[in-house]
Amino acid sequence: MDENIRIDGSAIKLVVLSSNCVEVCFDRLGEPMNKLDAETLEQLEAVVAYLEQLTELDGVMITSAKDTFIVGADIKSFGAVFTQPAEDVLAMLHQINGLFSRIEDLPCPTVAAINGLALGGGFELCLSTDLRVMADDAKVGLPEVKLGIFPGWGGTVRLPRMIGADNAIEWICSGNEKRSADALRDGAVDAVVSGERLRDAALDLLAQAHAGKVDYKNRREEKQQPLKLGQLDCMMAFETAKGFIAGKAGPHYPAPVAVVMTMQKHAGLGRDAALVIEANNFVKVAQTPVCRNLVGLFLNDQLIKKIAGGYRTQAVPVKQAAVLGAGIMGGGIAYQSASKGTPILMKDINEPALQAGLGEAAGLLNKQIERKRMTPLKMAQVLGAIRPTLSYDAFKSVDLVVEAVVENPKVKQAVLMDVEDQVSPETILTSNTSTIAITHLASALKRPENFCGMHFFNPVHRMPLVEVIRGAQSSERAVATAVAYALSMGKTPIVVNDCPGFLVNRVLFPYFAGFNSLLESGVDFARIDRVMEGFGWPMGPAYLSDVVGLDTAVHAQKVMAQGFPDRMGYARRSVIEILVDNKRLGQKNTVGFYRYEKDRRGKLQKKPDASVTALIAGQIVQTETVSDEQIVQRMMTPLCIELVRCLEDSVVASPAEADMGLVYGIGFPPFRGGALRYIDDMGMDAFCQQADHWSALGALYHPTADMRKRAVNNQSYHV
Ligand code: NAD
Repeated sequence: MDENIRIDGSAIKLVVLSSNCVEVCFDRLGEPMNKLDAETLEQLEAVVAYLEQLTELDGVMITSAKDTFIVGADIKSFGAVFTQPAEDVLAMLHQINGLFSRIEDLPCPTVAAINGLALGGGFELCLSTDLRVMADDAKVGLPEVKLGIFPGWGGTVRLPRMIGADNAIEWICSGNEKRSADALRDGAVDAVVSGERLRDAALDLLAQAHAGKVDYKNRREEKQQPLKLGQLDCMMAFETAKGFIAGKAGPHYPAPVAVVMTMQKHAGLGRDAALVIEANNFVKVAQTPVCRNLVGLFLNDQLIKKIAGGYRTQAVPVKQAAVLGAGIMGGGIAYQSASKGTPILMKDINEPALQAGLGEAAGLLNKQIERKRMTPLKMAQVLGAIRPTLSYDAFKSVDLVVEAVVENPKVKQAVLMDVEDQVSPETILTSNTSTIAITHLASALKRPENFCGMHFFNPVHRMPLVEVIRGAQSSERAVATAVAYALSMGKTPIVVNDCPGFLVNRVLFPYFAGFNSLLESGVDFARIDRVMEGFGWPMGPAYLSDVVGLDTAVHAQKVMAQGFPDRMGYARRSVIEILVDNKRLGQKNTVGFYRYEKDRRGKLQKKPDASVTALIAGQIVQTETVSDEQIVQRMMTPLCIELVRCLEDSVVASPAEADMGLVYGIGFPPFRGGALRYIDDMGMDAFCQQADHWSALGALYHPTADMRKRAVNNQSYHV
C-alpha cells in the first residue's frame, strides 16, 4: 500500500499530501455513487478520530473519486431508522451532528471540493468545512423537504448563518438543486472553477487559509454563533416566510413550515444548542405518515426506473419517430420527442390541424424562452425536428410510430393498417388510445407482434407517466422499444397488460362512478370538488371532467362499461351524459360543470354556473345527507378496489408500479403514497368494513376474496 494512504476503507481513503495536508476521499467500493450510509459514516468517524490525533496538520481537503460528490444519506434505511423510538432516532442524530461538528472544529482549515452532486447530507457535510470550491457543472442542494423531512445534520443551523435567513429559507423549503453560479452568488460556496481545476483550486484555497490570507476562523465562527439578524428583522423574515411557505406547500406537507419554525427557534442560539433544536424538530416530521409515504414514493420511483431500464437490452434505437394526428396529444408528443432530441414526423389529414399542432409546440417553446430555460437557437432546432406532413412519403425510415388519431376503434384500425403498409417490416407501431384494448386494435394488423400501446397523459409535456401496454401478441422487442422511447422522452414508463382502460383509466372510471352516485344522492358537485381537493387531489372530479372533456369522458365510460359490464355499467343515463346532451362539453366549449372565462393572461378560470344545477336536479334519485368523510369514502372505495383488481388480474406487476401509475398518471396525492398505500394505512380490515357499509352502491364497492383474506391475515401491499 502507498505509504501516504493512511486509511484505505471501503468508502473513504485518507491520504497524506505534501505540506502537512490531508485528503479525505470518498469512494464507495462497488457503488456508482457515494452516499452517507452506516458503513461510510462509521469510516468517517474513524477518519476524524485519526485527524484529531495528528500533531501536525495544516489542512484537510474532502473530495470524491466518483462522478458525483455525495448524493446524500441512505434513503433506503429511512423506513427502518425513523420507525425506531424517538430517543433512538435522536441519539443517532446527535452522534452524526457530533461528528460533523468535530470536522468543523479541527485545528486547521478545511475545504470541500465539490464535483457532480452534493445533496442532502452530502451537502451538509460540505457545510461543516470552512471553505467550499465547486466545479462549474456541479449542483448542490438540500432536497429533504421532498421526502417530508428537512435537513437534520446541521443544514438548518449552518446554512442560514452562512447565506442569510431569506436565502436559506428559499434553498431549504424549495428543495431545489442549485447551479454553481447561484450557489456562488448566495455565498454557499467560495469559488467556482472548471472540473479539471477543482482539486488545484481547493488546495490553493487551503494553502491561502493556512497562510492567513483567507480568514477561515472567522468563517467558522460565523456558523457557530447566533444568526446575525436583529430581533425585529428576524421576526419579519421568519413570520413572513411562514405564511408564504404554508400557502405554497399546502396543508398536507408539514415539513417546509416546520423547518422555517425550527430555524426561527434556534436563530438566537449558538451551534450546539441550535443543533439540539434541529434534531428535536426533525424527529417530529420524520415520524409522520407523510414522510413515510414520500420516502416510499421515492424508493418506488427508483424501482420503476430500474424496471424500465431493464428493457433496454431488447429495445431497438429510435432515431426517427412519427406521430399520426396533430391534435392535443399528437402535438404534445411531437413537441416532447423533438425537445428531447428524437426527430419526429407529424402526420395529419388536414393542414389546419398540422398548423395548430406546430403552434402548440411553438407556444411551449416560447414559454421556455421567456423563462430563460431555452435559447432561440435551440427553439429553432426543436421546431426543425418536427416535420409536419400530410403524406406517408418519409415513413420508410421511421423506427417507431405513435398513433394519436380520434378515439374510434374503426378509424384507429384503418389508420394502423394504412401506416403498416408504409413503414418497414421492422418498424414498431404503437397506439395512444385511452381505452380501446390493444389486442383488439392488433387484430387488424399483419404484424401484430410489432404493435403495443403507448398511453401518454394530457398535457404530455407535464405528465410524467407513459403506460406501455402489452397486447396478447406484442413482442418483447415492441414493448422494450416503446419503453426505451418513453425514457428518451424524459417520461416514466410502466408496462401493463392489456384490458379496457389499461391501468389508469380502468381505476379512474370507478372513481367517476362514485362521483355520479353522489350527484344522484343530491350532493353538490362544487362541494365534492372542494372535499376531494382537500383530500389532496389536484382537482376535484367535476373540474377534472371539464378539463378532460365531458364528451370524451362519456365516450370512454361507454368503452369501460362494455369491458366490465358487471361493475361499470350505469343503470340510467349519467349526469355527465345529460350535460353533454345539453351541449356542455367542459373547457373545450367553455361550459361544463362550471363556466370558463379567460383571465387577463389568457388562462381559463372556472366560474359557477347556476344553469347546471337545474340539469343535475333532474338526475337526483334520492336526496341524502352525506358528510365530507362519506364523500371521500364513496369516491375512493371503488378506485382502490379496482386498483387491487388490476394487481390481482396481473394488469400491473407490482404494488409499487400500481401506486406510481396513479401518482404520475392522474396526480393521486403524493403524500398518501398511492391507493394501495392508502389501504395499507387504513388497514385492510377497516377498509373492507368501510366498503361493506357502501355495498348497496354496487359491485364496484365489493372487496375481492383476496382482500378479505388479507383483512383476516392483516397483510399489507407494501412492507
Ligand atoms: P384530437 O381530436 O385533438 O386530435 C386528433 C387528430 O387526429 C386531429 O387533428 C385529426 O385531424 C387527426 N386525424 C384524424 N384522422 C386521421 C388520420 N387518418 N391520419 C392522421 N390524422 C388523423 O384528439 P386527442 O385528444 O389528441 O386524442 C388523440 C388520441 O389520444 C385518442 O385516442 C385519445 O383517446 C388519446 N388520448 C387523449 C387524451 C386527452 O386528454 N386528450 C389523453 C390520453 C390519450
